[in-house]
Order: sequence, then C-alpha cells, then structure tokens
Amino acid sequence: MNSQTQYNGQQPMMGIKNNVVQMSYQCASCSKANDIKPREPIRCRDCGHRILYKKRTKRMVQFEAR
Ligand SMILES: [Zn+2]
Repeated sequence: MNSQTQYNGQQPMMGIKNNVVQMSYQCASCSKANDIKPREPIRCRDCGHRILYKKRTKRMVQFEAR
C-alpha cells in the first residue's frame, strides 16, 4: 500500500456557505443571458421562454493564508 494522499484534518469542500447566488442561464430561444436566483422561476425575461440552459460559471476559489 502506497498512500501518498495527505489529509490535513480538513473536510474537503464542506465549509462552503450557501450564499444567495444568482445563476446564469442562457435562453434556449433567444440566447439571452438571464441571471436567476434559486427561488425565482426559470424563465427568460426577454422573450418569456421557459427553457433555459445553465451556463458554466467560473468558480472563484479563494485560499486563506494560514
Ligand atoms: Zn429568451
């Protein structure tokens, strides 16, 4: 057994807070970008189309210096 994985006693990705983040969707009809909050109905504000694609958003990763 050759385990090179080192654990620092931290749980990976468990400390992320659920902030209210707008998700970026792209309308399937008019391709317009829509920023929709999680509690809002998914609907294009431009043409009213209900099919939106979820866009890939770059996640901002921050490291805390210790
Ligand atoms: Zn649209």
